[in-house]
Amino acid sequence: MTDTDQEHKERMIALKEEHKARIKEKKRADRGLLIVHTGDGKGKSTAAYGTLLRALGWGHDVAVLQYVKGNWKTGEKQFFKRFSDLVRLEVMGEGFTWETQDRQRDIAAAEKAWEVSKEMMNSGDYDLVILDELNIVLRNDYLDHEMVKEGLLARHPRTTVIVTGRNAPDNIMEVADLVTNMEMIKHPFEAGIKAARGIDF
Ligand code: ATP
Ligand code: MG
Repeated sequence: MTDTDQEHKERMIALKEEHKARIKEKKRADRGLLIVHTGDGKGKSTAAYGTLLRALGWGHDVAVLQYVKGNWKTGEKQFFKRFSDLVRLEVMGEGFTWETQDRQRDIAAAEKAWEVSKEMMNSGDYDLVILDELNIVLRNDYLDHEMVKEGLLARHPRTTVIVTGRNAPDNIMEVADLVTNMEMIKHPFEAGIKAARGIDF
């Protein structure tokens, strides 16, 4: 073993000890977490569905509510429909602003979706609930921010909730356990490349 290798080995041993000591101080979460994925960069929904994949691997019970109903066919919707015994999928009733152009109809749809979200979060039936693009509905003030915060906090202790979408409101980030801001460094859209099947939808 060269000196460099030996030094490396010693450094790694020290690092491992340090890491072990730090983990020992931590405790297991005794309840589900509130997680927020926000920011301008791509990956908010993708990361939520990645977490869902992990949860499914452990046989957890999971549910998804999509707050922004696009008319387009997405890979995740096709997947969830195919595995409806594994994932409960709900999609918010109506289309969204620039398709419906009817604010009152959007508000009514958001309120209905919020009722379903509360039922999912309170039932105690799920380990993981994804409220995809809820932040978009909040940004448009279709739902009261304090009401949503209280509803998220009142969830069943078993249930982890992931809220996604740009412009997460401050009051929800304040009470969340985990907030990740996706930062856009580059996006193919800027280079004139269209959204792609299996990558973007
Ligand atoms: P994804 O679903 O790919 O994880 P996201 O949830 O982070 O994306 P959304 O705001 O929900 O982002 O946008 C959904 C769609 O917009 C996706 O097709 C995504 O690739 C695209 N998109 C996300 N970020 C950007 C960006 N910075 N510029 C252009 N398009 C973007
Ligand atoms: Mg998204």
